[in-house]
Amino acid sequence: MSETALSSRAAHSGAPAKQPRISFEFFPPKTEEMETNLWETIKRLAPLQPSFVSVTYGAGGSTRERTHSTITRILGETDLLPAAHLTCVGASRAEISDIVGRYHDVGVRHIVALRGDPAGGMGTPYVTHPDGHKNSADLVADIKRHYPDIEVSVSAYPEKHPESPDFDADIDFLKAKVDAGAARAITQCFFDNDLYYRYVDRVRARGIDIPIVPGILPVQSFKQVRNFATRTGTSLPSWLEAKFDGLDNDPETRKLVAATVAAGQVQKLAKQGVDNFHFYTMNRADLVFAISHLLGLRPVSQKAA
Ligand code: FAD
Repeated sequence: MSETALSSRAAHSGAPAKQPRISFEFFPPKTEEMETNLWETIKRLAPLQPSFVSVTYGAGGSTRERTHSTITRILGETDLLPAAHLTCVGASRAEISDIVGRYHDVGVRHIVALRGDPAGGMGTPYVTHPDGHKNSADLVADIKRHYPDIEVSVSAYPEKHPESPDFDADIDFLKAKVDAGAARAITQCFFDNDLYYRYVDRVRARGIDIPIVPGILPVQSFKQVRNFATRTGTSLPSWLEAKFDGLDNDPETRKLVAATVAAGQVQKLAKQGVDNFHFYTMNRADLVFAISHLLGLRPVSQKAA
């Protein structure tokens, strides 16, 4: 890899910063116990001062209200800047417009805009709602048209999205989202950094200059990661599988190995000039806190959660 490639990657991963910038993704809790756990996690991670925290939107809009109430609580009880995920699945333009309007009314200024998975699950054809947005670029354009003060992030796929016939088609889609007003792309998780480097090179060659923030998934459970990877077309290197071999019933060792693996991944990315990371927390603080520590981040006391 050339120095020029490195410096251009560093420049495009965001404004130069001594300390990396981080963001965290949570999912809306289903039960009271899960809610308590999420708030413990938020309390632990908030002092690391992430640039934002995002809350996912369940398949087919199944968590519409829970996503909204989690976001509202973050706004009300912390200094964190929340980003609400939103998909087009099963909703008309009017319904989506109502959801975005409600977010804007309570003070949300960041949305992660997505098409979403087909209602029948990955591998089945995606069917657009008869009165809905035709794709994610259309959703981005609509949000920006009505609410120019809302920042929009979108998805990116270092291994291309499973529905994309090839990388060119995939990156054309990313370009359409950027042209519609997306300010940042967050990647699907990946475990081989070369996939990310190659993808960023392709994206830059296409003239796209928004930050492509790597999505980092610490392996809480290898079984779960394997299922997720199969569904999403994410490759699992054999060395990764070997590291977790035999640890299914040994959570303590698994945690140590997971922290080592994810810390190694982000430290290597940081050495290559990447200064912006999005962590898929799975609503758990310990691994992400440890990895952030290894990146040089320290908690700052604040009026947190
Ligand atoms: P898009 O960016 O619209 O499309 C992805 C790719 O699929 C495109 O590059 C394009 O090549 C191909 N494609 C799309 N439509 C077509 C078409 N009609 N014909 C041919 N090719 C096509 N899902 C949720 O349900 N809730 C969430 O909160 C959520 N958060 C996510 C956050 C991140 C950072 C990421 C990476 C994914 C997230 N997802 C979420 C998953 C996402 O909804 C799925 O991957 C979905 O299948 C695609 O949505 P998208 O917006 O990424 O797709």
